[in-house]
Amino acid sequence: MINISINKKLDFETYNNFKDFSISGIDFGAIIKKDHPLINPDNFRDYIDLYYKNNIDILEKNCNELNILINEKQKAFFVAIKEIFGLDDGKKIQGYISIFNCNPRFVDSNKFQVFYKKEINDKIEVVFHEILHFIFFDYCSKNLPQETNHLNKNSGKLWELSEIINVIILNLPKFRGLIGKEEKLFYPKLKEKLLDIQNVWSKHYDMRQFILESLIILE
Ligand SMILES: [Zn+2]
Repeated sequence: MINISINKKLDFETYNNFKDFSISGIDFGAIIKKDHPLINPDNFRDYIDLYYKNNIDILEKNCNELNILINEKQKAFFVAIKEIFGLDDGKKIQGYISIFNCNPRFVDSNKFQVFYKKEINDKIEVVFHEILHFIFFDYCSKNLPQETNHLNKNSGKLWELSEIINVIILNLPKFRGLIGKEEKLFYPKLKEKLLDIQNVWSKHYDMRQFILESLIILE
């Protein structure tokens, strides 16, 4: 079950976590500044408070629209996921509309954010992208605990594989049809590695073998 709601406090955290953060060719601080040129570390609480106050109607409308679209698509999504990972979707997944275009996910609590100004199809793409991260990490901890439990989920080879496998899986016809657009690699520096991992995928290993071999390549 996926639900999207509003959470202003989480945007305080998102601002603090991303205002000085860059990874693999993406500068999140610059992204924040582009949408919110006047925000800074001194005024961010007042700024976010006021922004929510002035835009609450549109934020709520965004939430409702996204929940409706998710309800239309989530069943088919989880059926297709089960065919690939063999996992049931017992977990509750909570998403939040955000005023920042950082779209982070919190893998320990199955939570994520999605930027409210994205087109609705782009929001759906973020939703399924983040959920696929949760499913991938869940699969790894259940099926490859020794090989993956010690690995970082926010940087390094397991994180890289989580981003790359999203491009591979979300472009399979079933998912592509659900999302309605091509899944692209978000991090420019992972492009070369995507080709190597697509090669492994094309050998039709089972998921466990695919992950093991990919982690060796990403070493
Ligand atoms: Zn991601």
